[in-house]
Amino acid sequence: NKINVALIFGGKSGEHEVSLSSATSIYKFIDKEKYNVFTIGITKEGNWLYYEGDVENIKNGTWEKTANKNVNINLIPTINKNIGIEFENGKFEKIDVLFPALHGPYGEDGSIQGLFEISNIPYVGCGVLSSSVGMDKLICKKVFEQENLPQVKYTYTTKWDFNKNKDKVLEEIEKEISYPIFIKPANLGSSVGISKAKNREDLINGINEALKYDKRIVLEQGIDAREVEVSVLGNEEVYASVPGEIIPAKEFYDYEAKYLNESSKLLIPAKIDNKIIDEIKNMAVKAFKAIDGSGLSRVDFFIEKNTDNIYINEINTMPGFTNISMYPKLWEATGISYSNLIDKLIQLAIKRYTDKC
Ligand code: ADP
Ligand code: MG
Ligand code: MG
Repeated sequence: NKINVALIFGGKSGEHEVSLSSATSIYKFIDKEKYNVFTIGITKEGNWLYYEGDVENIKNGTWEKTANKNVNINLIPTINKNIGIEFENGKFEKIDVLFPALHGPYGEDGSIQGLFEISNIPYVGCGVLSSSVGMDKLICKKVFEQENLPQVKYTYTTKWDFNKNKDKVLEEIEKEISYPIFIKPANLGSSVGISKAKNREDLINGINEALKYDKRIVLEQGIDAREVEVSVLGNEEVYASVPGEIIPAKEFYDYEAKYLNESSKLLIPAKIDNKIIDEIKNMAVKAFKAIDGSGLSRVDFFIEKNTDNIYINEINTMPGFTNISMYPKLWEATGISYSNLIDKLIQLAIKRYTDKC
């Protein structure tokens, strides 16, 4: 008896394309002896479509044209319909597990996880609370602070405050932290809307840019640091992988350096002292538990170059998930293959669901 998995990709977020790549890899590597995969795409406008064509067309974005618009995806409980996929010929497929291979707002921030809770179907990855806390850089910092996880100095502003009294807001930011300053929309990922300011003019431009994506903005002390990441896996029993290091092809790891520039490199495992490795792994598990994570997360750190101080940067509850992305690569280096990892995540999803009841 095979398990029916609905693999969901695309979505309304700025990370739509990244999701297409993640889903294509998952589809290719999932154990098809064990799982039936049904692919569901969400367009950039937010429309859900059942897709059953060539998996390569997911990655290149042309899937939308050949998606089957006559198939109904029922995820909301009603009296007269079953939850699942309803084909035009009357055939019906129950969904046993949902796999949202989605990044960023609506897919990684608790919204879709809320829908899945309503549908009462197990789903891969973090739940509503951990997803939304993980996606909100400002709230997440406050949670980490409470757990005594070291972070770079930061402050924040809002669209309302900034537009009301620019000069005062700018002065206060400059009093709290010094240049270079990183400016980030509170709710996003993949470096979208993030910039590095070296002076007041950059700061104003950066805030205006970030405000295009969110009305809450985080401002951080920029540091000269190595970037090290750890993969976390589990529900109650949580494991951390070996750390990996990112060598950005640009001044910082922006969208271009992440996905377009071929010369950004991943060093796996990262060449760092064993003592620091242990510390980082412990912090990664602590951060995951602090947000009540389940399933998976990638926890990202800075190691300041001239002090070796460790700072937690962020937690990503649905990190890039192609077979060559950091998250699966770190597990591979720790002894779990990509196909096996997908299997483990689905089993963790089912386990969380049954444990809850
Ligand atoms: P995202 O969630 O979009 O990945 P991050 O907070 O990880 O956002 O920031 C993206 C990148 O910007 C980081 O990978 C790093 O290269 C750089 N960066 C972010 N904050 C800082 C900082 N405080 N000091 C130095 N570099 C930073
Ligand atoms: Mg992120
Ligand atoms: Mg990041």
